[in-house]
Amino acid sequence: MRKRLTVYEGDITELPIDVIVNAANSTLLGGAGVDGAIHEAAGPKLREECEQIGGCPTGEARLTKGYALPARWVIHTVGPIWQGGSFNEASLLEDCYRNSLNIAEEHHFNKIAFPSISTGSYGYPVEMAAVIAVNVCKFFIDSSEIIEEIIFACFDRLTASIYEELIDKIEK
Ligand code: ADP
Repeated sequence: MRKRLTVYEGDITELPIDVIVNAANSTLLGGAGVDGAIHEAAGPKLREECEQIGGCPTGEARLTKGYALPARWVIHTVGPIWQGGSFNEASLLEDCYRNSLNIAEEHHFNKIAFPSISTGSYGYPVEMAAVIAVNVCKFFIDSSEIIEEIIFACFDRLTASIYEELIDKIEK
């Protein structure tokens, strides 16, 4: 099967796939934005499992069940807070994508959806974050025996158009 990077414009919590990624904060106990939406849709058991995990450092990722979500699993990763660019933000954001993909591969998930990590309340400029997301994912999928599709779930048209343009360029 041809491996693909795709863009979905809409709510990541509605995707009925193996695994979706949550842009969590380091407590893993829920928050605003996509994190709040995922906890809301998954129900209280997700928070219970996250409490057991006890937090996650920036750049790392943790796996939980999806509970009431259509997705069976959730990978929670903690993106960097944008502080101007000279505080290791780029390499921490790369780690988020890479560590999430490593977990997906270890568990034999064929399809995974990412939100645009760090580009909401964490303030990472979306044009810069999207370059990192697409490059890391392209590199990973090309050498993966397991992952067939990586979906960038974008909540608004502007974000979706930025990802679409980058993917078009890279697939040429
Ligand atoms: P962060 O704290 O990592 O910046 P946010 O949730 O504030 O995370 O924002 C990350 C991105 O997720 C933003 O582009 C935001 O618009 C988007 N987003 C918010 N809710 C959803 C959702 N339900 N599905 C997909 N993307 C979402």
